[in-house]
Amino acid sequence: AVPLVIAINTSLAAQNGMLVRDRIAMEEARKLDIVVFDKTGTLTRGEQGVVAVETVGGVDEDEALALTAAVEGDSEHVIARAIRTAAHERGLPLPEPTSFEAIKGRGVRATVDGETVHVGGPNLLVALDVEPAPELARFASEAGANAQTVVYLVREGEAVAAVALADVVREESRAAIEALHDLGVEVAMLTGDSEDVARAVASDLGIDTYFAEVLPEDKDSKIAELQSRGKRVAMVGDGVNDAPALTRANVGIAIGSGTDVAVESADVVLVQNDPRDVVGLIRLSRASYRKMQ
Ligand code: ADP
Ligand code: MG
Repeated sequence: AVPLVIAINTSLAAQNGMLVRDRIAMEEARKLDIVVFDKTGTLTRGEQGVVAVETVGGVDEDEALALTAAVEGDSEHVIARAIRTAAHERGLPLPEPTSFEAIKGRGVRATVDGETVHVGGPNLLVALDVEPAPELARFASEAGANAQTVVYLVREGEAVAAVALADVVREESRAAIEALHDLGVEVAMLTGDSEDVARAVASDLGIDTYFAEVLPEDKDSKIAELQSRGKRVAMVGDGVNDAPALTRANVGIAIGSGTDVAVESADVVLVQNDPRDVVGLIRLSRASYRKMQ
């Protein structure tokens, strides 16, 4: 009887916006203790926009933005796309870098007119052992308190500008988290973004626990850590960085509009990109188990 129930559930799930890639997930979902959400692109839309630029040492704002966009020229990261769009909207001509290198979970590096230029978040500054000037530090802490992501422009070992980017929380995220709590399921958030941004988003959405500044290669160890404490864990994500965590989780759930790698690593795909469908999955799994008894 079990396979038939699962087959029926799989088609029911499909009618409710879920593509079930691994049918065992339908069985596992009812037993979940905690759902871990990736932040960018999962709880938020992942549509970043530049809201402010701050410079130090008399560096021109447009020049700083143009250089930042040029260094980001080769990156597919949402931050890179937002910065290129902002430079384009301001009609800025971009210098031409000679080499690009992505620094996973931190930022990018390029050579421009013989200078080494980096663009990245607070953890890039730490890795480069660069201290931002007080004006930039103040700008960053204000932006962080407003849940804005900040990246720095570092020229020859000196932070000369900072760019603040705002993302939009998916309104459905709030309802999803509330409903999960009603089902007695814990909720956590996992992000590569800064402590400031993570705290602001978690408190806005009513999330119990968050892990910030998690490097891509450490996302799956966070899942393993929760499992070693006896928890059954679902991971919901969209990015290339989320793939190992999706595989590690008891139930891996990908946002449909996410990267191919995330979708291929997931047990269930949320076709409508709606985090509330995670709740639907658990309810469906619980309801069918009751019927089987
Ligand atoms: P998330 O888990 O939020 O999707 P990532 O692991 O992709 O984040 O990135 C973590 C952090 O690394 C970003 O918040 C940013 O500070 C920095 N970063 C990564 N890639 C870039 C890039 N191309 N340009 C600037 N900063 C970047
Ligand atoms: Mg993401």
